[in-house]
Amino acid sequence: MSDGVWARVIGQPAVVAELRAAVAQPAAMTHAWLFTGPPGSGRSVAARAFAAALQCPDGGLHADPAACHSCRTVLAGTHADVQTVVPEGLSLGVAEVRELVRIAGRAPSLGRWQIVLVEDADRMTEQAYNTVLKMLEEPPPRTVFLLCAPSLHPEDVPVTIRSRCRVVGLRQPPVDAVADVLVRRDGVDPALAAWSAAAAGGHVGRARHLARDEAARLARKAVLDVPLSLVSLAACLNAADDLVSAAKEESDRAVAELDGAETEAVKASLGVGARGPGVAAASRGAGQLKELEKRQKSRATRLGRDSLDRALVDLAALYRDALVLAVVRAEGGEPPTLAHPDRRPDAEELAARIGPEGALRRIGAVLDCRTALAQNVKPQVAVEALTVALRLPA
Ligand SMILES: [Zn+2]
Repeated sequence: MSDGVWARVIGQPAVVAELRAAVAQPAAMTHAWLFTGPPGSGRSVAARAFAAALQCPDGGLHADPAACHSCRTVLAGTHADVQTVVPEGLSLGVAEVRELVRIAGRAPSLGRWQIVLVEDADRMTEQAYNTVLKMLEEPPPRTVFLLCAPSLHPEDVPVTIRSRCRVVGLRQPPVDAVADVLVRRDGVDPALAAWSAAAAGGHVGRARHLARDEAARLARKAVLDVPLSLVSLAACLNAADDLVSAAKEESDRAVAELDGAETEAVKASLGVGARGPGVAAASRGAGQLKELEKRQKSRATRLGRDSLDRALVDLAALYRDALVLAVVRAEGGEPPTLAHPDRRPDAEELAARIGPEGALRRIGAVLDCRTALAQNVKPQVAVEALTVALRLPA
């Protein structure tokens, strides 16, 4: 039998078996599901495949899901009875959630279920949670909630919500499963696919990004070149500048693409620039544009933080590689699996120069920097403090 919509869920046989069993037993349907797993494990991909299988008359098991109208529209995000919420700012507000709850209360218009899929549910505000919670206490009979949240912070999802959900735990997909899908689905050259999957440590989206985008590969290289460059105070301050400005450039590019299209769409819908919109419409339009600007600003802050955070995660992983190599060197034992296998020579050299205690202390410094950034310390200040703490011994 074909895997149908499940083919896109990579390296998660146990999860797929559990979800397929649920699709086969509609009478016993659970109305609230929480998909957890490490970043890049494919939480929202699994949730969406589940939504498609639930709506499909054939349970999503076609050789080619694109040939089925129901599957195709769910997977493309245009099905009338599957609402997707992606909190774009730092949090998902109560107004957005109220609108969702209103939709969730409706009977499905053409599908079998009314499905609400919330990506990054850990970004909901407390008020938003309370609104969802009321709904989960007495869910409408045909409504299914699919919440997704990273398992690194399961405590970010309040226990009152978690306790009402059936939890589906995804694992980090194996590197070879990720490489395989890059080759089969994206047509990536096998050697590049294997390298990207290994460099991304089983993070599917990141692996695809590295495989397809040379700028992403260069950005990763620039970050991983930092530790061995920190030979003087001046070098530390330079490296901090480079890290902060590279993250800002990357997020500026993403922000410009998203913002431009949105602002144009709002202006067009308000008739801004058209002749004689009238005073009332113009002032209403100014309000809407202001609201949009506020949302865009919040999103820009988040994107900037995310790209700097990814650089920090890459750095911490290189020091972690140095730590395990230093320990193996001192005590013997199995050669370890590295987070950055292509940078083994750097990790070896770091291990020799800073030793296990030095590596451990530097991992702590990177984590402190992430905490400072999460608490809104200015990136320049936090990253300078970091690179100075990472300086190599003379
Ligand atoms: Zn179908």
